Amino acid sequence: MPNKPIAGFHLVRFGTAADQKFLIGQFLSSYDQLIINANMVAHMPGALASFLSLKAKNKPYFIDPQTHAFQHDRSFIETKKSGELKRSITKLIDAYGEPFASCILKNRRPVIPNDFSNQKIVKRFCERVLKFQLESLSKEMNQSDSAKYYKYLKKIKKDVSTDTAPSLVIAPYFYLTANTLKSWVDVNLKCANVSKNIADDLGIPLAVQVVISQDILLDQDAVKQLIGKYSTIKPDLFLIWIDGFSEQQASAYQLDAYKNFIRGLGKTAKVVNLFGGFCSIALGRAKILSELVGVAHGLEYGEDRGVVPVGGGIPVAKFYLPCLHYRLRFRDALRAIRTLGGFNSSQAFYREICGCKICTKVIDAKPEENFGAYGQTRSVTYTRKGDPVSMEYPLPETKEKTVQHYMWVKKAEYNDPINVKDVIKNLNATGKKLEAVIGLDNVAHCFTWSKILEG
Ligand SMILES: [Zn+2]
Repeated sequence: MPNKPIAGFHLVRFGTAADQKFLIGQFLSSYDQLIINANMVAHMPGALASFLSLKAKNKPYFIDPQTHAFQHDRSFIETKKSGELKRSITKLIDAYGEPFASCILKNRRPVIPNDFSNQKIVKRFCERVLKFQLESLSKEMNQSDSAKYYKYLKKIKKDVSTDTAPSLVIAPYFYLTANTLKSWVDVNLKCANVSKNIADDLGIPLAVQVVISQDILLDQDAVKQLIGKYSTIKPDLFLIWIDGFSEQQASAYQLDAYKNFIRGLGKTAKVVNLFGGFCSIALGRAKILSELVGVAHGLEYGEDRGVVPVGGGIPVAKFYLPCLHYRLRFRDALRAIRTLGGFNSSQAFYREICGCKICTKVIDAKPEENFGAYGQTRSVTYTRKGDPVSMEYPLPETKEKTVQHYMWVKKAEYNDPINVKDVIKNLNATGKKLEAVIGLDNVAHCFTWSKILEG
């Protein structure tokens, strides 16, 4: 069983089955660890198990138990069409047991803090939530057809993973807002303490996930109280998720509060930010925040995430501009790159914009024309309230390219040598060059991050 809770600084969240191709093959070595959501595990355990053992060979992973999903309004866990519980959610309730079963299935309501007042229920609940993380994929990996297959592969001495357990387990957790902090925090601590004992017995690292709203982050008293409470448990790692916290949109004041929050928790255990961007990466890698030992992201869109999803937006073709560390709409990216001289020649593009494996394939003799491959869309027309509406959707091959490019740029952000002075200089220069081209909204984070990195 591995005893290192995380394998490295670069964590990636497995989003959908379609994401697989961006996580394996040539991309496999571009990141250190995978995070898999419990609902995905419940939804497709067999496919995930064979993905992990056969395709993502030896890649360490852990499972986010997503227990907070059961404290929100039921619409969060119902299918939109029929209003019935999603199948993966029913499976999770089966796995987690009480108090979810009674509250959600019988009484058709979300769980509330009072449902955790019985210590026996809490203990049983924690055992089951940890067991799900420990066993659901590893069991599958050991029992399924893929297990037979990889036993066969091992026999013929092919490189396959035999380490099937997650690198850590996460205690059940619930989301805290300034309004609900007082009621939920003690449930979280109870779950963390019970889980710590179980994990210690099993000899597996325990992570405690702290999920908070932005209003808590900005409330110094609340943060102090929270950190004081969480310092009483001794987890191997803290995982943090700040609701909808976008580093690109955040003010210096918010980012300062974010730093202080990590420093505060970091006195008890190291911290991983579950949804972060380049500002976090730079703060952690440059040891300005030595408490921050990992930053996770999803594929393209996962640098911030709301705790309660507000429904999928319309997909838009965006290009992650490396020097801006931000995804720009295709037309803005085009204008920015023109200003930066990236279309002067293919060599200029590789030098000034990006020389990743996909950009060097896409950008050729006519850089500006070639760049169009990152913005190809198709027009879809439908009727809304009797009026025809026309929308532009990116083509599958467009997404294919923008995600590949994103993954390569992320690899560089996490691995290239980092010098804070250079980062600050480049951010300021990029901001100044592009402000008058794509607007302050798209570049303001350059100036804010510089200040934050200067300390
Ligand atoms: Zn690229």
